[in-house]
Amino acid sequence: MTATAPPSPPNEPPTDPESELAACVADPEAALKQRGIQVERRWTRNTLAMLVTNEETGEQTVFIVENASALLERFLLLHELAHILLGHRGCSFYRGFLFRPSSSKEEHQADQLVAAAAIPVSDLLKATEGARSLDDVARTLGVPRYWVKKRLKMLDDLL
Ligand SMILES: [Zn+2]
Repeated sequence: MTATAPPSPPNEPPTDPESELAACVADPEAALKQRGIQVERRWTRNTLAMLVTNEETGEQTVFIVENASALLERFLLLHELAHILLGHRGCSFYRGFLFRPSSSKEEHQADQLVAAAAIPVSDLLKATEGARSLDDVARTLGVPRYWVKKRLKMLDDLL
């Protein structure tokens, strides 16, 4: 290893990130803070939320857009927590620059993990009884419509 080698990779992801995330669904911000991760609300131009790893100090911060609704905030924080549980590093802050890797694979993995953790199949089935639309299901579950779609797609892919 040379003096200019990139920083070492993060800790191994947990073996069961889905159960771990499921335990944090009610209060993802507390779960992030428990892991020593700062949560900062600020004005953002191009993103709703992002995870930044300071490669020099190892510190991680989740930035989320200010003035988001409570529901949106919860799901943005869950999404970023999912990245962390999956061992993703998000953006790297290194020597004064922010490097933003675009990995649609990591985004997909994080979205899937949140949908699976936030919407147990039994809850989904119960919520679909008598529902006339995806919006009905989302309202019953108290989650964004987007996650219901994601969850249904995941189950569909299993069949
Ligand atoms: Zn993401």
